[in-house]
Amino acid sequence: MNTGTMIDSDILLDMNSCGFYTAARLGVSLTGVTRLLVTHPHPDHLTIEPLAWRQEAAGAADAAADAQRAMISPRFTRLPMLTVYGNRFAREALADAHPALFDGSARAQMRFQEIREGERVELDDLAFTPVRANHTPQRGFAHSYILERGGKTLLYALDTGGYDPDMLALILARRYDGVVMEGTFGLSRAPSGDHMNREKNAAFRNLLLERGCIGADTPFFLTHLCPHWTPPHDLYAPMMAKEGFTVAYDGMVAEI
Ligand SMILES: [Zn+2]
Ligand SMILES: [Zn+2]
Repeated sequence: MNTGTMIDSDILLDMNSCGFYTAARLGVSLTGVTRLLVTHPHPDHLTIEPLAWRQEAAGAADAAADAQRAMISPRFTRLPMLTVYGNRFAREALADAHPALFDGSARAQMRFQEIREGERVELDDLAFTPVRANHTPQRGFAHSYILERGGKTLLYALDTGGYDPDMLALILARRYDGVVMEGTFGLSRAPSGDHMNREKNAAFRNLLLERGCIGADTPFFLTHLCPHWTPPHDLYAPMMAKEGFTVAYDGMVAEI
């Protein structure tokens, strides 16, 4: 399925058109999610539909309407406020295109906050730094994230074909307990500035090793693997394990 990630039980990285169904199939509850970090608004990462399902039925705000709403609402579970973080392209796809979902009028319990590259967001039990990724000709279309929680630091790097020097400097200034990176083009040798392949994955991991950002045993996950260029999991996982990578799969659970 398309790639999405949950950290603990309250943070989501991307919500694509498969994410809601994958979570349901795996018995993973999304009702405790309070933060959604959007990498970019390509449809395999972001779709409005499951977010729109958060809204309650429309109606007058009185006791009778509330009682009726409890029976006919598209949802029955009280949801905590969800803050959606994303770049301006994500804002245009979400809050600008569907203002009622984000301004309180649809009772969707959801708000949007725009992120800026290199500007660390500090919350009570979480901090994250958006890193501009090179993914499309539109500068700033996609962002990776450096996430910090509970004394651990994770680099979440998709979609990207690499980083400009200023953003690479940000990444190389940190030490990581885990890395999640896209490996879209797998065994393809065709150069792409928008995505990674096996060679680029290996070069990036070596760079992190050389700079002391990771150790040889630091978990390094490859995800966002396109089946047109990447072998099936049972072939690709052992191939990449020899090079220090763990190939992810739907429903994978990992602790760092
Ligand atoms: Zn993309
Ligand atoms: Zn993608």
